[in-house]
Parts: sequence; structure tokens; C-alpha cells
Amino acid sequence: VDSSFVDYRPPITVVVGHVDVGKTLLLDKIRGTFVAYREPGMITQHIGLSFIPWNAVERIADPLLTKFRLKGKVWIKGFLMVDTPGHAAFSNLRRRGGSVADLAVLVIDITRGFEEQTYESLTLIRSRNIPFVVAANKLDRIYGWEPHENAPFLDSYEKQREDVQGRVEEAIARIIEEFNKLGMDADRYDRVRDFNTQVPIVPTSAVTGEGLADLLVVLAGLSQRFSRDKLRVTYGPGKGVVMEIREEKGWGVTADVVLYDGVIRKGDLIVTAGLEGPVSTKVKMLVMPKPLDEMRDPEDRYMFMDEVKAAAGVKIIADGLDQVVPGAPVFVVPQEASLDEYVKLVREEVSEVKIETDRDGVVAKADTLGTLEAMVIYLRSQGIPVRKADVGNVSRRDVVDASIVRRKNPLYGVVLAFNVNVPHDVEVEAMQYGVKIFRNEILYRLVEEFTQWYKEQKT
Ligand code: GDP
Ligand code: MG
Repeated sequence: VDSSFVDYRPPITVVVGHVDVGKTLLLDKIRGTFVAYREPGMITQHIGLSFIPWNAVERIADPLLTKFRLKGKVWIKGFLMVDTPGHAAFSNLRRRGGSVADLAVLVIDITRGFEEQTYESLTLIRSRNIPFVVAANKLDRIYGWEPHENAPFLDSYEKQREDVQGRVEEAIARIIEEFNKLGMDADRYDRVRDFNTQVPIVPTSAVTGEGLADLLVVLAGLSQRFSRDKLRVTYGPGKGVVMEIREEKGWGVTADVVLYDGVIRKGDLIVTAGLEGPVSTKVKMLVMPKPLDEMRDPEDRYMFMDEVKAAAGVKIIADGLDQVVPGAPVFVVPQEASLDEYVKLVREEVSEVKIETDRDGVVAKADTLGTLEAMVIYLRSQGIPVRKADVGNVSRRDVVDASIVRRKNPLYGVVLAFNVNVPHDVEVEAMQYGVKIFRNEILYRLVEEFTQWYKEQKT
């Protein structure tokens, strides 16, 4: 294999935002809309991703492409769209120094504006430098809105009554104001003059399909302008990240992996990371979902692959995956390379996230490598020092570590537990040591509880 061969892969596009804003329905609608234009094999399903080819997008976006003089100028071949149920999925799309995601769609309910997880998603998008667009969804809920199935937003908007247009503008203005408060500039996408400095807002409806064309055209523009280098892939050894670890009947523990570069083959030696350190294992099977029309029953969901090229979402079946943590890197070890070299690479990547220092700071625990990294980024953005950051349930050692800090600095001698459990004996021990454990499933709330307590203690 010539590993220097370079191609451009479709951008990996994550859909993020507060719960119930319509992320999943938006993706369903995009898929459904384009399935309606189906040519054989057009929409391909991956594990956790689905591929929307550009020629399908062109069918509904034609008037817009003409309007923006983009016709024939789009060279990306489509989008690999990723749904992110909950915070973990997006956090886990991590790689050294950034994200596996090339683009993000931040979905906001146009009738509600910014919500808690909007801020969290935004922090992560910005810390990982991902170009993004806002989908101001549930446009059809604007009072008096007359829907036009699958029409571009701009076309449908022109046909609305003046008072309805006014209400849309007010809702958009409220979103812009929130961005301004955060020191960012934003505008309705067709009014954006500088995509370097302004966040484009596209009103959409996952129910009527309005605005989907606009959304995809803006995404294409952003990726061509800002992600070109990231989209280059080689056909060398595969590189990916573990999205999820799950048990499958008959297969044992499997890893759902997003492959962002290179090729992975059945029989390849791979290295990834577990709770106790690097894990190396041989790929027994690689599977991907079958096209919907080939599925006979739910047991018959998968195709068995000999090789998979980036970008793709693929399930890996191998021994020893039960130890692996989501958010961990996955590298294929080329035949001529030394395993040690790759083990070292994985260790380095992981030690960037896991923190262990002597300084005074909180003990941070999270459920995956991705959520841990998101947590550390967030804590730092709030000016909270971290002594130790690790994956897994709160342990007695964490309590002891916090108690050491507590002797010198009582306010930082605490454990922050994000999405992990505190076993009963650990809880008892923490009480004996006087170590406070904060626990929450929502990062923003967790940190808020801690800072609230911190302020109370200080006065
Ligand atoms: P998620 O949690 O962000 O994935 O949100 P879902 O896609 O599950 O949608 C949450 C709820 O909002 C569901 O009841 C959807 O039917 C509804 N919904 C989503 N998008 C729209 C929209 O554009 N318009 C309207 N009216 N309802 C929507
Ligand atoms: Mg959802």
C-alpha cells in the first residue's frame, strides 16, 4: 500500500446542542429527504454516522447554489453526519490537540434560545477549534409560520406574512445577543459578511424540512474554506477514536470506532487505551450496518468487511476490548513497525488528558477519556486548578489524594465526579476524611455546585 496516496474524505460533521432541540429528528429528516432522491447505494449507514452524498444535496439546494454562485464549485463529496446523544458522544470524538469532527452543527430551539447544554457544547466546539453553524430549529413553531416542505429557508421566508417574518427576526436577534454576550459575533447566514469572525445562523425545521438545503450549503462552504487540510487522508495505517464500548450478543465486548485516517483491515494489530494503560489486540472482525433495504430482520443488521477506509464509523470485534475507555485513540500498527512505538504513542496521548501533579487542586473523575478532557477544559476555563484527572468511579485513592490537598488548601481538597459513581465504602471514607464529593451528570451544574460551595466557605 502506498501510504502517501492522498484523497479528500467527506467532513465528519457532529450535531450537538441541548436535549430535545431536535438533533436526532434533524438528522432523520436529512436522511429521509435524501432517501427520497435515492439512487442505488446513495445514503450509506455507518456505526454512529451516516453519509449524505453531495449530489443528493444538490437536488434540493439547486436554487441556493445558483443564488450564491456555488454551482459546480463544491468539491466535497458529501457529509458524514454524527448524532451525539448526550455530552459523551461529542466529547469522545477527540484526538490529540483537537477533535475528530471537522464541522459542527450547534442546534438551538429557535423558540427557546440558549439553554444550559448550548453553552457546554459551545465551550467544547471553541476549545477544539471546530468551524460551526447554528441551526435555529423548530422554525415551524413560530406563530403563524406557513410551511413549504423542504424549501430553502430563504424561499419560504419570503412567502411569510410580515408579522411572521418579524417574529423570526426577533428570535434570531435574541440568539445573536447571546453570542454577543459571550464576545462572539453572529448573524443570519445570508447576512454574514465574514465567515472568519461571524457565526452563521440558519433557521430550520426538522418537521417540514425547511432550511435543510441552506444548512448543508453553509456547511459545505465552511468545510471547503476552513477544513481542507483536515480532510486529506492517506491510505496508510488506520487512525481512529473509540466512540463507545458495548457488549454484543455472540461477539462479546466490541468497540464502535470512528476512523478518520487510513485503512483498517481484518487481522490488523491495533493499539488503543484502557483504564490500566495501552491495550493491543488483533482485529477479529470488522462490521458495518447493511443498507436498510437489505436488512431482513434485526439480527441481520451487519455486513462483514475485510477492510474499511477513512472516514467511516465501524464496529471492531476483538479480544480485550472490555478494558478500553471511550475517547481512546486507536492506531493500526503497520507490519514493519514496532508495537512499542505505538504503545508509547497511545500512552502519550492518554497522559495529555489524565493529569497527575503535586500541586493543590481538585480531583476530577469522569466516565470516559473524552468527558474527562471536556471536564478539564471546562475547569480550566473557570480558573479551577486540577491536581488529578482520571477515568472511572471515585476510588479510595481519590479520597486520599483530596485529603492531602485539603490539609494545605481546604477549598480545593474535594472530588468532582462527572457522570461516575461513588461506591458506598468510598463515600464513608470521604466522610471520615472530611472530603467533600460533588457529583452530577451535567458538567455545568457540577462545577456550579462546587463554585457555590467554594464561595460560601470563603466568606
Ligand atoms: P434531540 O434530543 O435534540 O435529539 O431532539 P429530538 O430530535 O429527539 O426531538 C425532540 C422533540 O422535538 C421531538 O418530540 C421532536 O418531534 C420535536 N422536534 C424536533 N425538531 C422539531 C421541529 O423542527 N419542529 C417541531 N415542531 N418539533 C420538532
Ligand atoms: Mg437525540
